[in-house]
Amino acid sequence: MPVYRDAGFELFDAETTKNAFSRETENERIPELYIYSRYRNPTVVTAEEEIMKREACKWALLTQSGMSAIDTAVSVFQKAELSKPWLFFSEIYGGTISFTESVLRKRRGLQIHNFYPVNEKYDLNEFERVIWDIKPELIYIESISNPMLIVTDVESVIRLAHKSGSRVIVDNTFATPLLCKPLEAGADIVIHSATKYFSGHGNITAGVLCGNDSTIMKDAIEYRKFVGHMISPDDAYRLHTQIQTFELRFREQCHNAVMITEILKKHPGIRKVWYPGLPEHPTHNEALKLFGERGFGAMVTFDFDGNTEQEKKSKRDIFVKSVSEKIKIIPSLGDPKTILMPVESVWGAKYPEPGLIRLSVGFENCSELEKIITDALCKTE
Ligand code: PLP
Repeated sequence: MPVYRDAGFELFDAETTKNAFSRETENERIPELYIYSRYRNPTVVTAEEEIMKREACKWALLTQSGMSAIDTAVSVFQKAELSKPWLFFSEIYGGTISFTESVLRKRRGLQIHNFYPVNEKYDLNEFERVIWDIKPELIYIESISNPMLIVTDVESVIRLAHKSGSRVIVDNTFATPLLCKPLEAGADIVIHSATKYFSGHGNITAGVLCGNDSTIMKDAIEYRKFVGHMISPDDAYRLHTQIQTFELRFREQCHNAVMITEILKKHPGIRKVWYPGLPEHPTHNEALKLFGERGFGAMVTFDFDGNTEQEKKSKRDIFVKSVSEKIKIIPSLGDPKTILMPVESVWGAKYPEPGLIRLSVGFENCSELEKIITDALCKTE
């Protein structure tokens, strides 16, 4: 696939120029209609087609980060002083929470409500009551949350939201289309941090928003162009290459995650393991309903036991040090190698437990990974 690095494209004559400018938001794959790379670029369009195949949708728009995909998606529904309240589920990526606080509330003055889970599970009866009460124009959810891996019953949320006239954006980064496709259940927009499983090697920052509604697409194309959220052609080229192995990688990562979960579950020094595939996970039923037999994702969170905070912290630190040659602290996920985050260091105010560790499981050789984890657990005893 060629990389079109040109900033502007030749338009040949006045008639073609007029045609290109007037049909710009239709997103047609016609070579003469490319105008300027910040609007649309042939390399980017080809990479977008790879994502459309995977989310089974009519359009996909790549952006230079997951956050710019989120900004584009929510901004489509913002209508200056006519904006009605929005409802964001509380268990979403920390960066998205900061964006709602610093940008949407403080700077844009939007009225944002939060919907909280009870015992790590969203109560849909309560959700229905809340949406009829506040009548949000927009509802924002994640299919699998971070770091406690709460699975949202996406299908029911969309059904109830649409009944009350609300639009729904789903961040499907953790689940990926291999586990669920929220657009098939009627989501208005699905977004991804393509930095994670789609690119899958920890070497691209990118985002994407996907959908089926052509009016939303036109507004999103305009917003991406006006604020300059377009991905670079070089990043789109690399994403196009790396996404070819997405299914192979993610299946292997899910498989390794199940294996690690089993080891952690058996270890007496571990107080609790969070993985949506475990029958005792608070949203295991939601996971079964949404993902069926396809898997439960590649993120695993666990907590070291101990009689005191200090004991838990010390076991966590011994574990982190023991695996550090092979499993690094890297604040991302979806990389080829398993990486980890000490939860309390990042989300301390929300999750103060000192023994908590979040693993993003890689696609390393299964038995090597098993040995690394087992040896490190032994050292904590
Ligand atoms: N959504 C989720 C679930 C994420 O985990 C992240 C980043 O970690 C983002 C969105 C933001 O993506 P990016 O870092 O590519 O801007």
